[in-house]
Amino acid sequence: MKLTLISPRLAIQKGDFLGSGVPYWPIELATLAAYARERGDTVSLIDLFGNAPGRLSDAGDHYLQGEPISCHLGEDRFKEAEAFILYAISYMSHQELLDITARLKQAFPLIPVAILENSQSVTAYSLPRASADYFNAGADLLICGEPYFNWDAIKEQFAGTGSGPAPANVMARGSALLPERLTVKDLHYPVPAWDLVNLPGYWALPYSHGPKTPKFLPILTSRGCPYPCDFCVVPETNNRRWRGNKPEEVVDEMLALRDRFGVRDFQIEDLNPTVQHQRWEKICELLIEREAGIRFYFVSGTKAETLHIDKIPLFAAAGCRYISISPESGSAGLMSRIGKCFDYQHGIELISACRANRIRTQACLLVGHPAETETDLEASDRYLSQMLKAGLDEVAVFIVAAFAGSRVHARGDISLADRKAFISFSPKGRGDYKTIENRRKRLVRTFFIGKLEHGADLWLQGWRAVIGAPETKMENLPRRMAFIYWLVLKSLLTGKLCRNS
Ligand code: SF4
Repeated sequence: MKLTLISPRLAIQKGDFLGSGVPYWPIELATLAAYARERGDTVSLIDLFGNAPGRLSDAGDHYLQGEPISCHLGEDRFKEAEAFILYAISYMSHQELLDITARLKQAFPLIPVAILENSQSVTAYSLPRASADYFNAGADLLICGEPYFNWDAIKEQFAGTGSGPAPANVMARGSALLPERLTVKDLHYPVPAWDLVNLPGYWALPYSHGPKTPKFLPILTSRGCPYPCDFCVVPETNNRRWRGNKPEEVVDEMLALRDRFGVRDFQIEDLNPTVQHQRWEKICELLIEREAGIRFYFVSGTKAETLHIDKIPLFAAAGCRYISISPESGSAGLMSRIGKCFDYQHGIELISACRANRIRTQACLLVGHPAETETDLEASDRYLSQMLKAGLDEVAVFIVAAFAGSRVHARGDISLADRKAFISFSPKGRGDYKTIENRRKRLVRTFFIGKLEHGADLWLQGWRAVIGAPETKMENLPRRMAFIYWLVLKSLLTGKLCRNS
């Protein structure tokens, strides 16, 4: 079957660098491309962001980074496609995804348009919750969760859209049935088809999701997460099922990518990579045994308690350079409302051990949970100070937003002054946004004051940010801001900051 796979442009909220604009790669789409190709399908992949990250369009309250779909509609891979699969990479790109859907349907009314859920990201969303939007825009099918288990049945649905019942994990237009997300134990996932993606486009950017290195690749070593956090979409998009690739397969993939693309830095994008601590310990042993000579970074966070303190030297020896953990809140009471516990003492010991082994650490905290009180905020502030004393390198403070698929969204307990406002981790449409933003500022202030009190770290981080050798995510930020403002300025000067087309 001839398939054209599309990943949308990146949406960046204007005036915000903390809650949107992170350049995530289309990992699941590239994995599907490889999977389909292995089964004989002819696959094209168009990554609208990665193809042209230096192009910016004005979309009202946000910018769209990348090239518009209109650049491609006249190409043979569109005219000859038997199905389009559009990747719902992020909730922040929702309007762009709807626009692309409508354009495809208008240009190719007889070709099925399927939307693929991104089940492996906390910034994505549950497609059934947005089904009306998609079907109104012209989508034919929503593929929910992973498409690998019954790929042939999904393709049959493409071939005869509308005839016969849709597979269990597919929602078809007009169907009231909620899809079931299927997971496959011990599935061997192919190496993503990175040959179809413009890697130099990502490498040339002066920033990335994790600490930016000249050449790097993202990698998924596991899928899913067993925890039930109520602000997160993942419990719904993965049914709280976690599944990890075998250590040998993970190492084989890294070495294959190293040898094929000359990449030695890997950003681990798993939702929760170390759920089985023995698995990653084995991966580390294999990396050492096979003299891999690579470095890896847990950039999407992992559950701190699943990392054993006495194994941190092993991780460092295998190439680990960065670990992000998610205490979320310093208040055990609020954590129990969220649905996840956190071992605060273990968090401190882990940060100290990482510090001693030259592994950089990030702690993710949230503010603005509907149940959060001033007392909870005080507790987060205190815990942040303790982490700084232990050697924490950076903090990320997110504002809870109602992402479709989270329980917070389903309960409707975040009041929105502006329902149409851009959704991000700086949700300016919240009625209480100013109050919550002040809470974030308070924690950020605590971080900077604490860093200044504990040695020369902050100065060194500033220096590394300036020279473009970041070891933490926040060291990416000055160059990211400069890059985006340069694009805006350049577009204004040349009159090319066009309205979204
Ligand atoms: S630990 Fe919580 S926030 Fe993180 S992926 Fe799992 S459910 Fe989401």
